Parts: sequence; C-alpha cells; structure tokens
Amino acid sequence: KDDALEVHYQPRCDARTQQIIGVEALARWRDRDEGYISPSEFIPMAEECGLISAIDEWVLSTACRDVLHWYQGERPDISLAVNFSPVQFSRKDPHELVKRILGETGFPGNRLELEITESLFGPDSVGVTGSFQRICELGVEISVDDFGTAYSSLSRLKNLPLHTLKIDQSFVRDLGQDPNDETIVLTIITMAHNLNLSVVAEGVETRLQYEFVRQHGCDVVQGYLFGKPMPADEFEALL
Ligand code: C2E
Ligand code: MG
Ligand code: MG
Repeated sequence: KDDALEVHYQPRCDARTQQIIGVEALARWRDRDEGYISPSEFIPMAEECGLISAIDEWVLSTACRDVLHWYQGERPDISLAVNFSPVQFSRKDPHELVKRILGETGFPGNRLELEITESLFGPDSVGVTGSFQRICELGVEISVDDFGTAYSSLSRLKNLPLHTLKIDQSFVRDLGQDPNDETIVLTIITMAHNLNLSVVAEGVETRLQYEFVRQHGCDVVQGYLFGKPMPADEFEALL
C-alpha cells in the first residue's frame, strides 16, 4: 500500500493578501501501468471495503511529518488541512486516532484542520457531537467540505463545534455566468459569517472567480489560479 499511495499538497491563500497561509493534503494513488488514479475513484472503494481508516491515517501522519519539516524552513506558520472520511465516525472514535498521530509526530494540534464532507452533517448525525468536541479539545479545527452539495442540517451546523465552511467548487465554477450560482455563493458566505464560521472557496480557477469571492468577503481561496496539488518537494520549493 505505502508504495503506491502518495500525498500531494495544494496551497491555500488569504483572500485579501494572496499569501499562502496553509495547505490541503490530497491522497494520490499511483498505479504502475495507469499512472495516477483519482481519489474520487479509490476513496469511495476504500470506504466500502473498510480500508479508509488506514488510508486516512497514513495521509494524516505523512502530511504532519512533511509540514513539520517545512516549519524548520521559512514558513513556521502554515496550517495543514487533511480530508477525513465521514465513515470514520460510524466505526470507532476518530479522536483517538488524531490524538495518537499528533503524539507520534509532534505536530501542533492548533495547526491542524480536518475536512469532513457534508454528508456527516445531516439530521441523523447526532452521535458525532462528542467526538467533535474531543477533537476540538486537541486544538484541531473541523471544516465542512463540499458545502452546498448534500443536506446539512442548519441546526446541526449551529450546534457542532465547527470552524470553516468550504464552498463546493461546483458553485464557484460558473461565477460570472450563472446568476443563481452567484446568489448561492453570496448566501453561503453571509450565512457562514453570521454563524461565526470562516469561508474557503475551492476550485478558484479564474481571476473573475477570485475577484467575486474576495469582494464578497470570502476569507480563504484555493484553486488552480493559486496552485495545483503537487508533490511535497515541489511544494517546499514553492514556499
Ligand atoms: P476535496 O477535498 O473537495 O478536494 C478538492 C478537489 O478539487 C481535489 O481533487 C483537487 O485536486 C481539486 N481541485 C483543486 N483546485 C481545483 C481547481 O481550481 N479546479 C478544479 N477543477 N479542481 C480543483 P482530488 O485531489 O481529485 O480529490 C477529490 C476528493 O477526494 C477530495 O475532494 C476529497 O473529498 C477526497 N480525498 C482526497 N484525499 C483524501 C484523503 O486522504 N482522505 C479522504 N477521506 N478523502 C480524500
Ligand atoms: Mg477537502
Ligand atoms: Mg471539496
């Protein structure tokens, strides 16, 4: 497993200054014959067959070690975001896993953010509150990934200890072309800020998309306009 799995890193920038303030770790599966296989293909399979915890754990510990290494260089302040499958929460308490990896790597909890897709924030997700709280006690922040694509319960959003909403890239894509998407993006930003959550726009590819989200108060931007996901050594060179 370890030979084929890699972690790539995509920069996240402050929407106002465009400075790199963090990085998202994204899993990559390299097949000897077929090249890179997208996580959108292998993550759902791993979730079904129960391999997902092993993958998420490996990505988390690898990313913690890589970013710690960068802290010794010019940028001791960037934060690390790692994707965490909602499936983890239905198996055992993922707080134990996070705590153990922080202990093993020495990575500071207050620089770590877990991105969890919206499917975990529906009305049935009552059991996760305690788990979220224990994760927050480690200083780790939790963000809602792909926001707007599934069915978040607003009362869950209000009551869970969350830090960030990530606007799904499908809404960002048609900014400037589809007035409905402009309204959706505006509404998400306003709602998030009123709930004291910070907002990340993902999939920002054009100047126009960037200007739109920046002017409307989005806090952080991520997308090809600022950098594609890249191997660790390339990201280090970029820093
Ligand atoms: P995500 O967390 O929402 O990640 C954003 C996806 O958008 C990434 O796809 C990234 O490469 C892509 N992207 C970034 N900027 C742009 C842009 O400007 N334009 C376009 N068109 N795409 C952009 P990727 O790497 O294929 O990952 C797909 C999904 O797989 C991720 O979506 C995440 O949900 C999941 N995933 C990736 N790594 C892991 C992991 O280690 N664990 C778990 N559980 N899920 C992961
Ligand atoms: Mg993500
Ligand atoms: Mg996303």
